[in-house]
Amino acid sequence: MKFYSTKTESLKASLEEAIFNSLPPDNGLYMPESFPKISDEFLADIQNKSFKEIAVEVADTLFEGEITRTELEDLIENAYDFDAPVVEIGTNNYVLELFHGPSMAFKDFGARFMAAVMSHFLIKSEKKINILVATSGDTGGAVAQGFYKVPGIDVTILYPSGKVSEIQEKQLTTLGHNVTAIEIDGTFDDCQQLVKDAFLDSELSSKFNLASANSINIARLIPQSFYFFSAYAQLKKLGKPIVFSVPSGNFGNLSAGLLACKMGLPLQHFVAATNLNNAVPRYLASGTYEPAPSIETISNAMDVGSPSNFVRLKRFFGDDWKSATEKIFGTFFDDEQTREAMRQVYENSDYVMCPHTAVAYLGLKEYSEKIGGDFTGVFLSTAHPAKFIDLVEETLGEKIEIPARLESLLHIEKVSIKMKADFSAFKELLLSRLH
Ligand SMILES: *Cc1c(COP(=O)(O)O)cnc(C)c1O
Repeated sequence: MKFYSTKTESLKASLEEAIFNSLPPDNGLYMPESFPKISDEFLADIQNKSFKEIAVEVADTLFEGEITRTELEDLIENAYDFDAPVVEIGTNNYVLELFHGPSMAFKDFGARFMAAVMSHFLIKSEKKINILVATSGDTGGAVAQGFYKVPGIDVTILYPSGKVSEIQEKQLTTLGHNVTAIEIDGTFDDCQQLVKDAFLDSELSSKFNLASANSINIARLIPQSFYFFSAYAQLKKLGKPIVFSVPSGNFGNLSAGLLACKMGLPLQHFVAATNLNNAVPRYLASGTYEPAPSIETISNAMDVGSPSNFVRLKRFFGDDWKSATEKIFGTFFDDEQTREAMRQVYENSDYVMCPHTAVAYLGLKEYSEKIGGDFTGVFLSTAHPAKFIDLVEETLGEKIEIPARLESLLHIEKVSIKMKADFSAFKELLLSRLH
């Protein structure tokens, strides 16, 4: 399998190149050159397969031998010691829980696989790399956990001081070893700018092997398609068409669902559900794309004004707006609607949702009301509610349980390097620490 750049179709890369470059040199995004189909035999029996068996089959179909099947089996066995269960909430309404990984957000599916694949290639080449990543919360935790103690890889995470939740901060700052947390006196945008400047700096990029772990990397996108297959496997016995509602920010998750479809997974429709950062729902409604500065909301992992995977999303439909509207129903909700949904589902079904999950729930509800039909609806739960404990408890007016894994973090001392949002100081630090 080769990958091409969305800006220059003739610019091709192998899987290994696409993963380590992260972006093609022309600043496009890598896309698979073709979409090999999952075999009919496998689909016919998919309800009897485990998550890991499904992951191996999907990756093997897509990679076409660049990593052998035996190697993939090993790598997936190590990457996933957690599952993606589908849970029924009310009648004919299901939630796909993606928060059972080490950082308790769905980004674990991408980060764990990416770390395993990078490490696979590094062991072969005996190279060493330095991952730089800026986070507004969940990405940092997943990347820290995913790359923790992976040989040959050092990770530097930048986060905005005081702007991530306590649990999110502890996930970044308590691991140590090959994970360094830098606490920036500034915003998420400042963090992202420092990382971008580091990649553009010729001295840094000539001295060190720098790599990115953000969601535009194809190695984070591909594994996110595994759980769409796995959810289908769990619901196939109901014998109805399936609609997935995806709470979206950068649109990596929805792009992965579209990849699964292209590979032959029979799905009826997607709902693209956002908060007030709604450039994509507005595009689906009007055909005009107008990215905007991001707006702060309570579903803050989706506060993205200009989604980085939009180009990919369009490319799945040959850049044709009309075709996109035939597969994706777009909608968006404000904070008050989100809180109300959290309260209602808690009261009616005794189920606690994080705000992002609530946006997906609302999206599915609106789809049922406006489009209707006989289908099985699944909304994606992208984070454990306890990651946003203050907000969830304030909204529900009740204490909620914290899983032991998160609770124990609160008692560990954080270790971070504090810095102003200043590139020369950041560069100095990298020069003294990286190797
Ligand atoms: C990152 C994130 C999202 C948004 O996912 P995208 O792939 O960027 O659309 C939604 N919910 C949570 C909890 C997240 O961490």
